[in-house]
Order: sequence, then structure tokens, then C-alpha cells
Amino acid sequence: MKAIVFNEVLQLSLDEPRPIPPRGEALVRVLMAGICNTDIEITRGYMGYRGILGHEFTGIVEEINDNNQSLLGKRVVGEINCACNRDDCEYCRQHLGRHCQNRTTLGIFNRNGCMAEYLTLPIVNLLEVPASVSNEIATLTEPLAAGFEILEQIRLLPGKEVLIVGDGKLGLLINHALSTTAARITHVGKHADKLKIAENNGSETYLLHQMPPKLYDIVVEATGSMTGFQFSISHTKPRGTVVLKSTIAADQKIDLAPVVVNEISIIGSRCGLFKPALDYLKTGVDLSPIIQAVYPIDQGMEAFEAARTKGTMKVIIRFS
Ligand SMILES: [Zn+2]
Ligand SMILES: [Zn+2]
Repeated sequence: MKAIVFNEVLQLSLDEPRPIPPRGEALVRVLMAGICNTDIEITRGYMGYRGILGHEFTGIVEEINDNNQSLLGKRVVGEINCACNRDDCEYCRQHLGRHCQNRTTLGIFNRNGCMAEYLTLPIVNLLEVPASVSNEIATLTEPLAAGFEILEQIRLLPGKEVLIVGDGKLGLLINHALSTTAARITHVGKHADKLKIAENNGSETYLLHQMPPKLYDIVVEATGSMTGFQFSISHTKPRGTVVLKSTIAADQKIDLAPVVVNEISIIGSRCGLFKPALDYLKTGVDLSPIIQAVYPIDQGMEAFEAARTKGTMKVIIRFS
């Protein structure tokens, strides 16, 4: 099968073996796969991962190695962390499979990813896509779920003032997730055209250089840069919270004194559950402005080239 493989170099392989689902897993024919910044980081050495890339997909279940065949033939998306589910696992026992120390992660750790004609995942990871949601939009479920994860971690009570820093695709999907609460959302970024998406979603928006000197209860850092992190800290109220949504390449110094002086809480936030994200997509919300382009798999390398360009929104690879 065709697949995008990273093994010291990134390449489109035409003869990867089709995977065979082990007990409890399904064989999924991939329709679309999204390129994430994490994939690009992996090609620069992140996680030391080698294998088929990708963790954002929409596909069709073609085979199930289990007695429960209910998802056979269904169009699905899949949660990316595969927990061990053993009785003696502290995290799995608490339903924290996303933190299971024995987990594998689709296209990131010890498990081949979704940029291939076929993948396998445990059936417990798969969720059916509502009929009204297109393949392209369903491919956004994983990064959108990462936005909803914030709501699993902190309560955004009505009247709370939230600032989202960064108007890239992740920041904008976070905007959509948080807009389901009664919190007041402000979004700051560097691109008027992207901030327009946040504005159309009901947020107050500012270009970075026009940002007023205001403090917020909760600040979500979605730039992935040290300067974005410092900016987030400096716009957080005393006793407020900074949510870190992207792993930051620590290439600059940071002043953490304001974190102590203002008793700011810093919360790390990663993958989220898919159900709230799918429920949100089902409302018919238009996320198409977050998609930049769709490339056929034969142009997979061109797709990566486009995704690497700074400021690019979501690039999707189409299979079949
Ligand atoms: Zn991702
Ligand atoms: Zn476990």
C-alpha cells in the first residue's frame, strides 16, 4: 500500500505491507489524513519516531478482529492513544488511558500512523462520524478534541475572561471549542485574515501590536513559541491560569518570576476525547476556513511542502 514514511528521510512509499488487525482491533481504509505540526516536528527528530506518519484521519472500517462487528462498514475517526487496559495499570484503572505508561500512539509512538491506505486501531478507539459531517471536516476531529480537552481540565464559568494567543489552525480550533461555553473570549494573533475566523465565531480580536494592556482569568498559549508563552504569562491576572497547548521548542530564555509573584497556575494540555468534538461538528458549524488544501496521496511530498510553509492552515491528504 501507499504510505508516507519517516525513516531518517521523509518519503512516499508505494509498497508498505498492509497491516493485519490483532485481536480487538479493526482494519480501517483511510479516506483522508491531516498533516499536523507534530508530524513536521517528527521529521525534525521529535519523539525519535520512525514509521508511517499521521494521527488525524477519517476512514472506513473494512475488517474487525473481534466478536463485536457493529462498526463494520462504518465511517469513523479514531482516538490516537492506545492504552494497555491491564488491571494492574494505575492510569488505565482510573480511565486515564491517554496517560497509560504502556500506551502506543498512532503515528507518534510505537504504532504506525494514518498516512497510509490502511491502518489498524483498537475498536474502542473508533467513533462513527455523523452522516452530515464531510470527510474533510471529520479529519479535524482530533485537533478540535485537543481544544475541548481544556474544558475537561478547567471550568470556564460564565463571565470568565479568556485570551487565546495565536491564530494558527490550533488556536482557531481552540476558539471553536471554548466558544461552546459562556466565557468571554478574546483572540490575539498576527494575521487579520485568520483573526476574522475568530471574530466570525463571536470573539473580540486584536492584532498583536494593537493588544491593550489587559489581564485575563485564563490565557491559552497556542503559538508554540517562547515569546508567545511570555506574552501569555504577562497577560494573566494574579491567581489566573495559563494553559499550554503546544510543546514549545525552548530556544529562548523565559522570565518565570511573574508566575511566582502573581501565583499563576500553568496547565499542560494535550489530546482530548473525541465525543464532544464530534457533537460540535454535528451542529453544522463551518470549519472549512481552517482547511488550506487537499492533496492526493501521490502528491504527498508536495502536501508536506505546503504544510511546512509558515502560516499554512490545515493541509489534508486524500487517499483512494
Ligand atoms: Zn495533531
Ligand atoms: Zn495502561
